[in-house]
Amino acid sequence: MSGHAPGGPPLLRNFVDGEFVEGAGHFVKSSPVTGEAVFTVAEADRATVDAAVGAARAARRGPWGRMSERDRADVLLRVAAELERRFDDLVTAEVADTGKSISQARSLDIPRGAANFRAFAEIVATAPTESFTTVTPAGGRALNYALRKPVGVVAIVVPWNLPLLLLTWKVAPALACGNTVVVKPSEETPASATLLAEVMAAAGVPAGVFNLVHGFGPDSAGEFLTRHPDVDAITFTGESATGSTIMKAAADGVKAVSFELGGKNAGLVFADADLDAAVAGSVRSSFTNGGQVCLCTERLYVQRPVFDEFAARLASAAGELAYGWPSDPATANMPLISAGHRDKVLGYYDLARTEGAQVLAGGGVPSFGDARDGGAYVQPTVLAGLGPDARTNREEIFGPVVHLAPFDDEEEAFALANDSDYGLAATVWTRDVGRAHRAGARLDTGIVWVNTWFLRDLRTPFGGVKASGIGREGGLHSLHFYSELTNVCVDLT
Ligand code: NAD
Repeated sequence: MSGHAPGGPPLLRNFVDGEFVEGAGHFVKSSPVTGEAVFTVAEADRATVDAAVGAARAARRGPWGRMSERDRADVLLRVAAELERRFDDLVTAEVADTGKSISQARSLDIPRGAANFRAFAEIVATAPTESFTTVTPAGGRALNYALRKPVGVVAIVVPWNLPLLLLTWKVAPALACGNTVVVKPSEETPASATLLAEVMAAAGVPAGVFNLVHGFGPDSAGEFLTRHPDVDAITFTGESATGSTIMKAAADGVKAVSFELGGKNAGLVFADADLDAAVAGSVRSSFTNGGQVCLCTERLYVQRPVFDEFAARLASAAGELAYGWPSDPATANMPLISAGHRDKVLGYYDLARTEGAQVLAGGGVPSFGDARDGGAYVQPTVLAGLGPDARTNREEIFGPVVHLAPFDDEEEAFALANDSDYGLAATVWTRDVGRAHRAGARLDTGIVWVNTWFLRDLRTPFGGVKASGIGREGGLHSLHFYSELTNVCVDLT
């Protein structure tokens, strides 16, 4: 890590122009597992953000943006190798910040960090370019070809739920395209981003190309960065309401934005589905990472003939998910990110009861009789009995909770799934191949999974419709956002 506060928890600092630096003051990051302080974090003030953006601007004019794509891809591959070398440190950092189980950090979060750099090294080095031969007015020929150029300084603002995974998902393509970046991780998860700065330096990424500022959103590093006049583009993952605020800030400089926002994702379980797979898949899709994944299912619609059996099996499986310390690989439940978020989720559990929901599983807070009672745990919860207009069914809760409702036929299922302000992902459980394809065509979401969930190929488009986002990242779609094309037209006569 970047230093030690005297007598306190380890100190995490900002990273500007290749150096770890202090900011205006410090804030404390607490453990979601016990509530104890785990890190002291240097908060970037406006001057620190100015310095970070200035360093990125200067590095943008240096050799980084002019390197060949192949050479930049080689640097990205060194970053991936360095992330793999620091694997255990990154797992420790991610678990300390989030309280997630060590097995998930080892199998998903940290490996995906390295995979993002490997994927975009390959994608940028093999990306096709366009060329057209055009007839000139004199009957000659002209050659048009498109040159891919960096956008400039990219601000990257990310949330706390999958910290390294979501951060590297944006840093890797931004750097691959020759941009320089200033990243702002969530105030809840400063640790793996700080290690990423160390990784960048060790991998030989030039000073100023990757900069990191710690802090909060409004009137802090997030706002200073997204309002900064020398930022050329903003890529953001987080709540839809925050996206709206950042979009207003981006309007001032006519900055490009790419937004991956909230979800209120539906799952559809048809009576012809493999019910074992549908139950197991729905347990994953509703409760993975404490339900704190934008792709998690919070609304499940189940065809009436199998509704009772499915509901009983899901409720029973929710009650069997193992509590344990994050260090125990068998642990399935994790705490929510903070006491504040736990209170919000518990508020929704209360709201559901007030709205008349039946609580089929959970609905409260587990009791441990040890230090975890100071943490931010809630029980995985299965609800039923509410209509589509209940707030419980319309607002993103972002916790381990799902509401079940029955449907009769495919038309009704698609209509219920689409009845949302959000449109990120949908999951469909069916053995009918025709229905699977109809679902892909009819569901108003950026992603439709059939008989699976959270299966990602990094070359595919990722993003949401409606309040769930603007634009697509992934594969060549990321290159479209992180680069500008200049068409060069040469008369060959
Ligand atoms: P959030 O919007 O509160 O915060 C996200 C980031 O934005 C943090 O770094 C925060 O400090 C910063 N921020 C907050 N206000 C800001 C402001 N006014 N200006 C600039 N920056 C600001 O989100 P969160 O609570 O950290 O994350 C949970 C949300 O993220 C959920 O809504 C979830 O669905 C969404 N999410 C979406 C995706 C996706 O790919 N679509 C992925 C993960 C999470």
